[in-house]
Amino acid sequence: MTAIAFIGLGNMGSPMAINLVKAQHQVTVFDLMPDALETLRLAGASVAASAAEAVKGAEVVITMLPAGKHVIGVYLGSNQQAGILDLLDKNTLLIDSSTIDVASVNAVATAAKEKGLSMIDAPVSGGVAAATAGTLTFMCGGSSDAFDRAQAILSAMGKQLFLAGDHGAGQIAKMCNNMLLAIQMAGTAEALQMGVNNGLDPSVLSEIMLKSSGRNWSLEVYNPYPGVMKTAPASNDYKPGFMVDLMAKDLGLAMDNAANSKSSTPLGLLAQSLYLQKQAMGDGKKDFSSVIELMKA
Ligand code: NAD
Repeated sequence: MTAIAFIGLGNMGSPMAINLVKAQHQVTVFDLMPDALETLRLAGASVAASAAEAVKGAEVVITMLPAGKHVIGVYLGSNQQAGILDLLDKNTLLIDSSTIDVASVNAVATAAKEKGLSMIDAPVSGGVAAATAGTLTFMCGGSSDAFDRAQAILSAMGKQLFLAGDHGAGQIAKMCNNMLLAIQMAGTAEALQMGVNNGLDPSVLSEIMLKSSGRNWSLEVYNPYPGVMKTAPASNDYKPGFMVDLMAKDLGLAMDNAANSKSSTPLGLLAQSLYLQKQAMGDGKKDFSSVIELMKA
């Protein structure tokens, strides 16, 4: 049993923290939203009144926050709060599973190292369903020692654990994956809508493409057409899931990286403009599969 502080209990963090409780770890949680704290209290976690209180006595700290500025704020501090780094014992292992920019990872990892603390970036893939089932993929960056220590904890929340390289490498792997996901979801959406515009039943077309060369993750577990897949956000008014705002953020990270690494990513750029358009329409809080709404006549 490990004493774990878990900070950030949103769509992903909440089921991940619940799986740590189920694995008999001693979990103390913090989030800004009282409802999220109540869910974890009912699941058996201890609830803290602040991030600083949550990390008292923690052997491992896990963060699952929206973006780099939130991660920097929690670890290093901001105008609103003091950072938690100063409060941690030397042996504490830090695991950040948020999807964030590499510069923020490096800022926190460097500050942690100066205090004798180990940190890994450990962004995830699989969405809310995999977070709930404990079958996430973790793509990690950091030292192999820190990764080895993290495995016992990560395996309670995921099934595939990869060390991609040093600090930031997990985030690079994640931004490549999510750029591909955005392209694949947009492509799946336009194929389905074109079929429907020509009188095809979206369920039949999905079944055909699933057994053909168009098969992909969006079609398999996250169908964007309403009513085809009961468990998908499309059949629940595009309630997230994975928000348009977060996909737009991830595509921003990927496009910044593409410019810096002189990588040609024309489809990533096109996918980014689709998600920015959804945001401009006021759909930032909808699930990212709602991109299909741009293809409707
Ligand atoms: P979310 O917006 O649902 O949850 C984020 C949580 O962080 C919220 O509950 C918010 O209240 C909390 N928070 C923000 N600032 C805080 C602070 N200072 N202290 C404590 N809590 C704070 O987001 P999510 O969908 O859970 O995603 C989290 C991260 O995981 C993002 O970086 C996202 O890109 C990534 N991700 C999401 C999915 C998905 O399917 N939703 C999949 C893979 C990766």
